[in-house]
Amino acid sequence: MWHYACNIPQRFGLQIKAKSSEEHPLSHQRTLEKAVSYEGIGLHTGERIRMTLSPAPANRGVVFRRADLPGAPCIEATPGNVANTQYATTVAKNGAAVKTVEHLMSALAGMGVDNVLVDLTGPEVPIGDGSAAPFVELIRQAGLRRQFAPKTFLKVRQPIKVEVGTRSLYIVPSQRLRVIYTMCFDHPILGEQTCAMEVGRERYARDVAPSRTFGFLRDVEMLHRMGLAKGGSLENALIIGEEGALNGPLRFPDELVRHKILDLIGDLYLLGKPLVGTIVAQGAGHQLHLALVHRIQEQILSEPEPFSLSAAPVEQWVPPILPAARGLRAALL
Ligand SMILES: [Zn+2]
Repeated sequence: MWHYACNIPQRFGLQIKAKSSEEHPLSHQRTLEKAVSYEGIGLHTGERIRMTLSPAPANRGVVFRRADLPGAPCIEATPGNVANTQYATTVAKNGAAVKTVEHLMSALAGMGVDNVLVDLTGPEVPIGDGSAAPFVELIRQAGLRRQFAPKTFLKVRQPIKVEVGTRSLYIVPSQRLRVIYTMCFDHPILGEQTCAMEVGRERYARDVAPSRTFGFLRDVEMLHRMGLAKGGSLENALIIGEEGALNGPLRFPDELVRHKILDLIGDLYLLGKPLVGTIVAQGAGHQLHLALVHRIQEQILSEPEPFSLSAAPVEQWVPPILPAARGLRAALL
């Protein structure tokens, strides 16, 4: 039952402890109560795709299945199956791939879904309105069912840092998951934005999930030349021109950096368990998010000794601890 506890490290800063019900109320894994479907366009492929989320057994994690391919191959959402991080996160296995998984992964993490089967009729998760809100709504429609298996969290015990040039991402120990995300945009009216928060289930659904993916008008042609964003439109992405958002108003004054937090939560969930620690991101993106995932995964796999872990108080997180980002409020609201 506690097989998660095998082969995980204390030496490198990760601690996993299976607490008994005498110490804390037992936290259970969760899956969906029933299957639910959603249909929409893939942001990068432009294809119309139907997605069905179904209940899955305990300890199965998030599994994608390409229902349109012969044999309906499965692709587990794990660090080892990450194939591409350019403008979106792609998972692939044995030649079958699913693009743009991060917004769905984020909603699953934020809403506390541990085990789910994701059937797709094409190579990409539908983009919806560019945020995770449609997936949160879908999960709410399905309802959550507790499973007879303990839920575990990866609790960081020592700082872990990844960086590329001036961009960096690190995680330090804390009792809850906190995120402090800073972006410095090369844009006349955006400048630097910081958003910091502790993200519980309710706060995630209200303050993170609705933030939309975004792109700069000046980059649209380049993305099309690269064969990306074929399904992009003003309905599924916030497009920023020199004067501001083409399709405002913004849902939050700091919607762009909140969306970075949304992406981060989704990418980190490829570890298969929620992280507990304070994450500080400076100019990060999918590439650095996944670099941190791989670093943590390496440390988990390299530690021969058993470890221990706690059930983190996911529902007890609190409001943002820094004021909303500067810059956009006056220009775009
Ligand atoms: Zn995104």
